[in-house]
Amino acid sequence: METTSLSTSWNQLSRFGSQTAWEMLEKEESSRRITTSCADLDKVVGGGFRCNQVTEVGGVAGIGKTQLGIQLAVNVQIPADCGGLEGKAVYIDTEGSFMLERVLQIAQACVEDLHSSHRKMTPADFLDNIFYFRVCSYAEQTAVINYLETFVADHKDVKVVIIDSIAFHFRYHFDDMPLRTRLLGEIALKLMKLAQKFSLAVVLTNQVINKFADGSFHLTLALGDSWSHACTERIILFWKGSERYAYIDKSPSVRSASVSYCVTERGIRN
Ligand code: ADP
Repeated sequence: METTSLSTSWNQLSRFGSQTAWEMLEKEESSRRITTSCADLDKVVGGGFRCNQVTEVGGVAGIGKTQLGIQLAVNVQIPADCGGLEGKAVYIDTEGSFMLERVLQIAQACVEDLHSSHRKMTPADFLDNIFYFRVCSYAEQTAVINYLETFVADHKDVKVVIIDSIAFHFRYHFDDMPLRTRLLGEIALKLMKLAQKFSLAVVLTNQVINKFADGSFHLTLALGDSWSHACTERIILFWKGSERYAYIDKSPSVRSASVSYCVTERGIRN
């Protein structure tokens, strides 16, 4: 009886599709990356924002989270030898901060920076390759995230999904905290599976809160302690004087480090 149940569980397990650590390493090494257009930032994250994983970018209002999101939505479209994936972007806007004129400006700068042999795309083409969803409640946000797998299956050239921000509706319109934690956990799992199934990068922005601990207030990312385990990589953007910095707070593959970056008229730069 015991043998039967053991062999049944083994059969079930093998159906889940185990893989060897070697296969996983090969997959990880072939994981493609999207440049941020800031060479220093690319360097500390290991060469750009990685596919097959969920990266969280948090920081105070105005630090540049949306600018970075827009930059990635543009850069994912450029050729691989310029740091892109010749792919398309899904942009889920929960805060209404996606500004078309800004996207156009960043796309224009991107075209100008490309080698002349690659300058086949116009700024308008860049806009045409960004699928934009505006969501106005956590219910809409959850519905769009549930729909992503079907959408990406129909648009396999989507190589980055940006949610800007994951926090907004869940922070301001949700009172039941245990339920919120459960829903966010399910969302994180779904996004992780999406990233791996379609070899794409998922990038989530998050807000910060002022948390009281050890006798003083500290800035920390929103959505609570369980959420802090939800993403593969966590990058915190912060001010040091008048300079913007990015800090690699959590990563399974690169060491913690901080690096300065700028938001310029042309987009994210050194
Ligand atoms: P958040 O972190 O709240 O998403 P944003 O990504 O919207 O912040 O960043 C807003 C900041 O980006 C502005 O305060 C400004 O400093 C900078 N910024 C926006 N547009 C431009 C531009 N055209 N030229 C230079 N800096 C800009």
